[in-house]
Amino acid sequence: MQGKLQQSYRVAREIERNAAFEGEIAMVQLPRLRELLREDARPQPLKLRFEFRRTEWGARSIRGHIEAQLPMTCERCLGAMDLPVEQDFELLIDACEGDDEAGLEVIHSDEGWIDLFALVEEEVMLALPIIRRHDNVDCNEFWRPSDPEETMEAERDNPFAALAALKGKL
Ligand SMILES: [Zn+2]
Repeated sequence: MQGKLQQSYRVAREIERNAAFEGEIAMVQLPRLRELLREDARPQPLKLRFEFRRTEWGARSIRGHIEAQLPMTCERCLGAMDLPVEQDFELLIDACEGDDEAGLEVIHSDEGWIDLFALVEEEVMLALPIIRRHDNVDCNEFWRPSDPEETMEAERDNPFAALAALKGKL
């Protein structure tokens, strides 16, 4: 089913008819995520498909796939970057503690209703790298890694740059 997505879905009804949805969510609907994006950017809506289903064990779940292009600021050069995010998710709905099958996370409904926007926002936030930077480790020529871990990361990403730096020291 394609079209405009609702913010909230009634679990019992959607599970019953094994409903599947596909559509987009505007970033203004995801305020916590929007706050992390460049203010001057006009972010594309996030693409989403999901379904309500029963697992092989009969537990109720919501399963889906999220795709987004997030205009962010590179923390190394402070330039603009578009961070692509793709995230699969499956959450058990109102499962009890210890009921979690195959290590699936549990989402609690609000009196039988799931807040889709809150769910999606949470999933995207979880999918974000902790530090957002261009893939190119040389995007800022004045950048000097400040901690050993980052130096290692930079060398792993770009062994030739590390070698060149080493040669420069000799
Ligand atoms: Zn950068």
